[in-house]
Amino acid sequence: MAPATRPCPNCAAEDPADYPDLHRDDWRMGQCRNCDLVYLLNPPGYEALVEDFAWEKTWVFEKAARLEARPLMQRADLATRWRHKIGRKPDAVRYAEWFGSGNLLNVGCAGASAQFPGFTQYGIEISAELAELANTNLAPHGGYCIHGPGAQAIREFPDAMFDGIILRSYLEHEEHPRPVLEQAARILKPGGRAYVRVPNFGSLGKRIFGRNWVGLRYPDHVQYFTLATLRDLAERTGFTVRLLNPLRLPMDDNINALFERRAT
Ligand SMILES: [Zn+2]
Repeated sequence: MAPATRPCPNCAAEDPADYPDLHRDDWRMGQCRNCDLVYLLNPPGYEALVEDFAWEKTWVFEKAARLEARPLMQRADLATRWRHKIGRKPDAVRYAEWFGSGNLLNVGCAGASAQFPGFTQYGIEISAELAELANTNLAPHGGYCIHGPGAQAIREFPDAMFDGIILRSYLEHEEHPRPVLEQAARILKPGGRAYVRVPNFGSLGKRIFGRNWVGLRYPDHVQYFTLATLRDLAERTGFTVRLLNPLRLPMDDNINALFERRAT
């Protein structure tokens, strides 16, 4: 079944430290002794993700379970999220600010139901069902979706094709984040950027709620980044990081950043 222990998905170091506080059921957490990244030692693998652990299905189940177990805490958390949504710019506006216009790749695009003016949108999606839906949505606008694991599918796009790449709530799910980012650097145009959003393992919420922190999802999330480990990964793959939520970061359950392709 699942491999015993994988090497660090950021720096490839073997022999991670055990992180027993965050083991759950059969899922085992570890921390790299070299770069400090916290990650799931025995992820379920791509095959399982295609159907068994479809992210949204698991999330709906966990959300219900959490509401039952910790009603007040969870409701407070939902209220916080709602507040953050108020006043936030629509995605179309933010993407225009960050990427200008042109070709946009959405990695983990699900059904790609949203269109963004000024962009031809492309997608990568691991769920066969959603990839088909995405193709139906993208084709009339000139784009398409590749069905497959991110680290493999992204190789099919040509060099310097994209003005922007969306990696939103994606890298924490991706068993091979490093090759995905290396490929992202390759397929971005000079000056191109990627938007990255991942759960913030360094957040106050994580420290307060511990094992019950909202960012922990077993086994869907296979990496848990702090700003430091996310920066480390960016630097190893040819990017510099521009943090989008610097003031709020300690309180924020997510890290939001633009990865800017370094000139080579
Ligand atoms: Zn490491």
